[in-house]
Amino acid sequence: MASVAIVGAGLAGIAAALELKDAGFRITVFERDRHIGGRCASKPEPEVFDQGAQYFTVTDPNFASVAKVLERAGTVALWNASIVDFREGQCVPKSDTRRYVGVPTMRSMIETLACPLDVHTGTQIAAAHICAQGWQLIDTNGLDLGEYDAMVLAMPPEQARALVPRNSALQRDVAQVHSSPCWAMMMTLEEPLPVPFDAAFFDRLDFVWAARDSSKPGRDGVQRWVVHAGGAWSRERFSTAPDEVAQELAVAFFTTIGIQAIRPLHIAGHRWGFARVANAPRVNALWDEDLRLGVCGDWCVGPRLEGAYLGGFACPERVQMGVSRPC
Ligand SMILES: Cc1cc2nc3c(=O)[nH]c(=O)nc-3n(C[C@H](O)[C@H](O)[C@H](O)COP(=O)(O)OP(=O)(O)OC[C@H]3O[C@@H](n4cnc5c(N)ncnc54)[C@H](O)[C@@H]3O)c2cc1C
Repeated sequence: MASVAIVGAGLAGIAAALELKDAGFRITVFERDRHIGGRCASKPEPEVFDQGAQYFTVTDPNFASVAKVLERAGTVALWNASIVDFREGQCVPKSDTRRYVGVPTMRSMIETLACPLDVHTGTQIAAAHICAQGWQLIDTNGLDLGEYDAMVLAMPPEQARALVPRNSALQRDVAQVHSSPCWAMMMTLEEPLPVPFDAAFFDRLDFVWAARDSSKPGRDGVQRWVVHAGGAWSRERFSTAPDEVAQELAVAFFTTIGIQAIRPLHIAGHRWGFARVANAPRVNALWDEDLRLGVCGDWCVGPRLEGAYLGGFACPERVQMGVSRPC
């Protein structure tokens, strides 16, 4: 049975792994973090927050089937929230797009999807060498993680660059794509905020999104808010301390919505270094047949969970072309 190493256990990596497993390949997934999910992340302590992806929308039929299965399993639910555009102090309701969330957290839906897979968390791939079989993977402790017939890198382009051979066509493709950062602020409040929305988009430079995390289905009643900053603003503060950024975003948010600053029970900042791409090549995944190396992720298709899924979903077709068919 031909073997494939998937590096990265965000939605793209998990989708690629599931599809390749179904196609009969032996799959091993490596994830550098302690948890899987990547940017579909939920901060576990001291309060649970969705600090990355907030919800997902569905247009593609393949992604719709997966969402349906997860919804039936109770791991995904419709977020029936009041979502608005906040413009010059006015709330303009958004269209009735159906927005779904993971239950009880965004990350938990990825964990449910990954159940049938062999995933090695806490394992950062430091080097990938071309060998007789295909690829030999080495982790950051210098440990040899074995040889594989093919490898798929499912991660932001800036992270993939380190593992794609220099001077390859794939390296040139990956090098053209750039991501912008995003600061996230999470806060817990004693009382509900007196605002007529559960989430809002803001046309501002400092912050662009705020959501009452606790309004999502399956969460407890603790008043949690998440605020996301704009790309250029986040870049300017790339090296600022998380606490400082979080305080700055809290002040901007309260001032904008016309509420006297409240002292949060808990406040924290998190920087996403490679949050979203501006110039996605709009292909599902990239594949080098000679190298038996695939690269996928939301950045190939578009910076949404659906894009990440479609990138991973497209991998088997490419891998099967380059690797001897599985038994
Ligand atoms: C702040 C923010 C808000 C967002 N909001 C939304 C939203 O509301 N709706 C929506 O649809 N999308 C949203 N997105 C986008 C969505 O989160 C992404 O499209 C999606 O999660 C990307 O999945 P991925 O698998 O392509 O990459 P990732 O989730 O980034 O996964 C890549 C994985 O690779 C791992 N990795 C990297 N290098 C290595 C290595 N060397 N060895 C091992 N593992 C490695 C990383 O740890 C990571 O887990 C948001 C993103 C951010 C940052």
